[in-house]
Amino acid sequence: MKRKALIIGGGIAGPVAAMALQRAGIEATVYEAYPQRTADVGSYLTVATNGLDALCALDAHKTVLAAGFPTRHIVLLNGAGKRLGRVPIGGTLPDGSGSITIKRAHLHRALYEQATSRGVRFEFGKRLVDVEAPPQGSVIACFEDGTQAGGALLIGCDGVHSVTRRLIDPAAPAGRYVGLTNFGGYTRGLSTPAEPGVWHMIFGRRAFFGHVVDSSGGLVWFANVPRGEISKSERQATTSQQWKEHLIDLFTDDRSPAAEIIAAGELELAADNTYDLPSVPTWHKGAMVIIGDAAHAPSPTSGQGASLAMEDAVILAQCLRDCSSIAEAFAVYERLRRRRVERIVAEGARQSNNKIPGFVRDLVMPLIFKFFVTQKALSWVHDHHIDWNACLASDTSRTAGVRLEVA
Ligand SMILES: Cc1cc2nc3c(=O)[nH]c(=O)nc-3n(C[C@H](O)[C@H](O)[C@H](O)COP(=O)(O)OP(=O)(O)OC[C@H]3O[C@@H](n4cnc5c(N)ncnc54)[C@H](O)[C@@H]3O)c2cc1C
Repeated sequence: MKRKALIIGGGIAGPVAAMALQRAGIEATVYEAYPQRTADVGSYLTVATNGLDALCALDAHKTVLAAGFPTRHIVLLNGAGKRLGRVPIGGTLPDGSGSITIKRAHLHRALYEQATSRGVRFEFGKRLVDVEAPPQGSVIACFEDGTQAGGALLIGCDGVHSVTRRLIDPAAPAGRYVGLTNFGGYTRGLSTPAEPGVWHMIFGRRAFFGHVVDSSGGLVWFANVPRGEISKSERQATTSQQWKEHLIDLFTDDRSPAAEIIAAGELELAADNTYDLPSVPTWHKGAMVIIGDAAHAPSPTSGQGASLAMEDAVILAQCLRDCSSIAEAFAVYERLRRRRVERIVAEGARQSNNKIPGFVRDLVMPLIFKFFVTQKALSWVHDHHIDWNACLASDTSRTAGVRLEVA
């Protein structure tokens, strides 16, 4: 009989895990808390080459990322307009595809459509609140609406504020606020000298700004503002126009197009507190396991959270396919993943700190980009490769299937 997996969370890790499990011969249903798929609003994210590679292992990278546009490089500047460096966002896959920037809602929709077209079932409005573990070893998920679902295993893909993480270990750490709030928007009809498809990231005097020209000539942008966490009441009391005015004020002293781009654009993401999750001691217990942001959330600054979630999803499915028990599969998955993901989260935290203005930062930044942020230095992040056909059973998993970074 086919094993059945309960997947909690229909963001990024969830649908990718469901497709990978299905390919591994394990039936999966995705249970998503929201009553329907995300509306067509929200910010953009960049899927780096290693994320593409994970989707490629499922023959899904082209269809899933079709609504995005290529962004292969980042140009870094300071608030005085001085260029600090140019960094690639990974190389290319053998078929020539490279990193892609895509609206989050479009990525969600494409993952949903691709997964359902492969026979994966989704149930919306299913917020996990508890689990029961019957003596025979399976797991029952209990949802807020009073319904339940049973399966051989439960995979928590429920993001940085994961309930599954707490059900596995009530003492598990919560997300850590990284000292930045996020804003994002889109501007049409404004011409800038920026090369299309190249992210321009500006270490402004008071806040950080990124922008890129997309394939239709519009400008995708975001701002990271160093400050304390924004409360729900402050968010509710502040209009989009007020946030825009605040952002324009923050960038007005910089020699950059930030203030002009914000003034002419629409704010699509406002006052989103940024969290990371450096190290979660327990990733699995019994028939439950966590992947993606639920297990290790890097700061968005790393540009890696979505890609790591995709890598996790595919590798966990390979472990479940190849190992003789669920316990062994979870142990192999953790052994293959923990060191890499925690190292990337730590790098992301360092990069987030660099966004907080300061005299020393401005002094050392050019050296950092000259010597440490190069394609070669970042190859251990971007060149991660998954061979779907390699066996990951515990006796072979140290060498097979996944090319691990060299320390
Ligand atoms: C502003 C911003 C910009 C970012 N930019 C980038 C970028 O450029 N590149 C990049 O790689 N990463 C980026 N990230 C990080 C990336 O978004 C995350 O790492 C990624 O979404 C993690 O995927 P996930 O599936 O693990 O979690 P999520 O995408 O958070 O999905 C979790 C899902 O679980 C659902 N859920 C939550 N609780 C429950 C529950 N109890 N029951 C059922 N369902 C539940 C949620 O509704 C959600 O759909 C960014 C993040 C932010 C905030």
